[in-house]
Amino acid sequence: MGKPIRDTLLPYGRQSIDEKDVQSVVDVLRSDWLTTGPMVETFEQEIARFVGARFAVAVSSGTAALHAAMNAISIGPGDEVILPPMTFCATANAVLFCGGTPVFADVDANTLLIDPHDVEAKITPQTKAIVPVDYAGQPCDYDALHTIAERHSIPLITDACHSLGAEYKGKQVGTLADVTVFSFHPVKHITSGEGGMVVTDDPELAANVRRFRNHGIAMEHWQRAERGTWYYEMTDLGFNYRITDFQCALGLSQLQKLPLWIKRRREIAQYYDGVFYQNSVIHPLSRRADVSHAYHLYVTRLEIEQLHTTRAKVFTSLRDEGIGVNVHYIPVHLHPYYKERFNTGPGLCPVAEAAYESIISLPMFHGMTDEDAEDVVSAMRTIVSRYQ
Ligand SMILES: *Cc1c(COP(=O)(O)O)cnc(C)c1O
Repeated sequence: MGKPIRDTLLPYGRQSIDEKDVQSVVDVLRSDWLTTGPMVETFEQEIARFVGARFAVAVSSGTAALHAAMNAISIGPGDEVILPPMTFCATANAVLFCGGTPVFADVDANTLLIDPHDVEAKITPQTKAIVPVDYAGQPCDYDALHTIAERHSIPLITDACHSLGAEYKGKQVGTLADVTVFSFHPVKHITSGEGGMVVTDDPELAANVRRFRNHGIAMEHWQRAERGTWYYEMTDLGFNYRITDFQCALGLSQLQKLPLWIKRRREIAQYYDGVFYQNSVIHPLSRRADVSHAYHLYVTRLEIEQLHTTRAKVFTSLRDEGIGVNVHYIPVHLHPYYKERFNTGPGLCPVAEAAYESIISLPMFHGMTDEDAEDVVSAMRTIVSRYQ
């Protein structure tokens, strides 16, 4: 096949760490607080300010944030939570952690965002929440979702692990649901190594998440130190989901760069859009007119019937060219755990299942150069013409 387009693999996503990030972490390591110190609170305040919400509570991962959110709205055995299958398994797992039952609503074929019509169809008297996922970084149809949630008096808890910095009808992600969850894993927009955030305007939900991340204890260690008391009360059953001060220092330092990084992601997306516009085989997912997309992922659909090959072969051929494509996601209800425990399987969400057969995520991260993006495009063109 000749020389690959790239000698080293261009990943689908990657963090950027500069000297300022390093210094901010080192400064904390030299300070008095390694965990639950002033950086945690500052990071929380800055995220709350950035998204325009009243409260933000930092935890050890996006998964912990989802678990804390499900706990805060009292999900328990017998409760159903509606969510899309086109997501990372943690979205559904968080419902299971609380003893609830995930109910999968299918996605819209053009955007792969949860389909409000199917949400409505899946509502039962047991439904206790809707958890939309802003897949790839594009906000869902929040007007439609709010209408359904209000009609049934249930909360909207958004998994916004892809959509930090996105907007829907001019409103920031973080203000579009009762609770919003973010992740700071290294492939996400900004990173703290591992880390997550729960954002809400509701003081009681925020207080609940604060206790939950700290064993269900009402007072945090630094507050006790400040008041010079040994006394504390455990009032709920919680976990140790705390995040360290040096992780929050990294997150804070990264946050300063977020607006520029989102701008860069949009530039790359615009370039891909322009190249694949009207391509007969490669179709970028549709973008809603009323949103500002944060492009955690750039997902394309292959018209695989037009090629003498399979999606798997296209995938490995691109990898062989040094292009680190990926597939987001295997629909959650097709994982063995869900199939065996909940009797889910093919046919439950046909749109998501069909999409899964044809999607491919192209490299998309703020540190990509123009040349990186051009390599992706030329590899796509080479592979498609090889099999056409
Ligand atoms: C990354 C991600 C999570 C989990 O976040 P972690 O920080 O890795 O625990 C949950 N949901 C979605 C949609 C994600 O992309």
